[in-house]
Amino acid sequence: MTELPVIDYSHIPLSDMESFDPPRAFDSSIIATVDRCPLKGLLSYWINRVTTGKRYPLTYGVAYHKFREILDSSMLQMMDNGASVEDVLEKSDQIHELALGSALEIYDENPPAGHKKEFLTQDRLVQTCEQGLNEWGAEKRKGAIIVLKTEQPFELKLQSGESYGGRMDQIVKWNRRLWLKDFKTTSMMGKTYASQFQPNAQMTGYVWGASELSGQVVEGVIIETVYNTKTTGPEHHDFLTTRDAFSIEEFKVETDYKIGEIRRMEATGIFPKKTTACNDFGGCPFRECCKQGSWAARKRWLDGSTEESHWDFAEPEKEAIKADR
Ligand code: SF4
Repeated sequence: MTELPVIDYSHIPLSDMESFDPPRAFDSSIIATVDRCPLKGLLSYWINRVTTGKRYPLTYGVAYHKFREILDSSMLQMMDNGASVEDVLEKSDQIHELALGSALEIYDENPPAGHKKEFLTQDRLVQTCEQGLNEWGAEKRKGAIIVLKTEQPFELKLQSGESYGGRMDQIVKWNRRLWLKDFKTTSMMGKTYASQFQPNAQMTGYVWGASELSGQVVEGVIIETVYNTKTTGPEHHDFLTTRDAFSIEEFKVETDYKIGEIRRMEATGIFPKKTTACNDFGGCPFRECCKQGSWAARKRWLDGSTEESHWDFAEPEKEAIKADR
């Protein structure tokens, strides 16, 4: 039997930490984080550290995502067993109860008083889910969008042989063409909200993935967004983003290039700090780590202030609940 080559990572800072485990394949989260700040990428996806404590907006999103997933996966399961759409809708109270129970299990407490997202209460989640159920029921009665697959993972090879993957929320048929559906939750929806999805590497990657899996042209992504603020919401809004063959080919070349850059960081052991990213998303959780005067001190800080958590793009919700990367 041919022995697999042993790769020496010992020159990478902090590679002696037990949690060190370099990514085997890449997805939009890893690439975007390294793009934003390579050191943050190293700490998050090679050293596999997350800060402790619950991140309420993220967990709220994961809980609602689970709710929507259960609605459609229950429907697909019932239809596989011969039920009609009408049969499924007749059972919608039971499906709702099951889905809501799972969502509340994930979002199992209100944010503490004074938290800046204090309005994201369990009651608000219940309202969001009730509204989501109404939207879902209306979609099924209309019959224009047919869900073909839910929670579909993919992993594909780029030209260099590197792997890129992700997990799509839904593959759907709409107007006899294939589309994807992606569920988002936000408390910021200005005039430019929709523009963030075009261009957007994550969405292009999904369209590439779905095209390869189906062997058909995939038109783009329907982004169903739930909007909640202290004074507004829940509100559901749909946005459309399309992709063409050129954007997919360009995505593949660019992603391969970016992974090549990451491999160079691994080969040199240099994951440079990009301090323009330190204030992103309300402040980088590794700021204190970066302030330490040596790698040994950084290791002590990571040991004391963070916990080990390994990212798996095929099962992102497992980690997102507690992650604060
Ligand atoms: S604090 Fe700044 S430099 Fe340090 S990891 Fe975070 S973004 Fe990078």
